[in-house]
Amino acid sequence: MKARVLVQREESCLLPYDRNNVFARILRGELPCQKVYEDQFALAFHDIHPLAPVHVLVIPKGEYVSNADFSANAPAQLIVGFWRAVGAIARQLGLEEQGYRLVANHGPNGGQLVFHFHVHLFGGRQMSHRMGNMPRPDDK
Ligand code: 5GP
Repeated sequence: MKARVLVQREESCLLPYDRNNVFARILRGELPCQKVYEDQFALAFHDIHPLAPVHVLVIPKGEYVSNADFSANAPAQLIVGFWRAVGAIARQLGLEEQGYRLVANHGPNGGQLVFHFHVHLFGGRQMSHRMGNMPRPDDK
């Protein structure tokens, strides 16, 4: 495992990166995914439990636990490449005109379940203004 200084926080959600997390295994091709986009910086695929007509996960090609880790420790080229990919994916999916929502969960309070940094891209319907909550399955 890579040695890396993580952002200092009092909570214990800054775990070391687990190379066997499900997204790491998807990146290595050990598990299947419904791919929508790939370049040198990012991979995007449909969420297995979609919460909107379009629910895509975008992950960087690197071992980062969460946004805290990615934003503090990833090289600038990867951060730029990743966010350009997020924009390109939304465009490719035809979401720019009607709009979309981006969500990144961090740690227990953020509801993070998979500890490889990822951004949820939701689209295809009007999102609720309940900003503190993820869309519910019956919002579909
Ligand atoms: P988090 O709460 O960590 O932000 O969300 C993790 C997301 O990953 C969830 O929306 C969950 O449905 C999705 N997910 C978990 N396992 C898999 C998987 O094996 N394949 C895909 N495509 N999505 C997954």
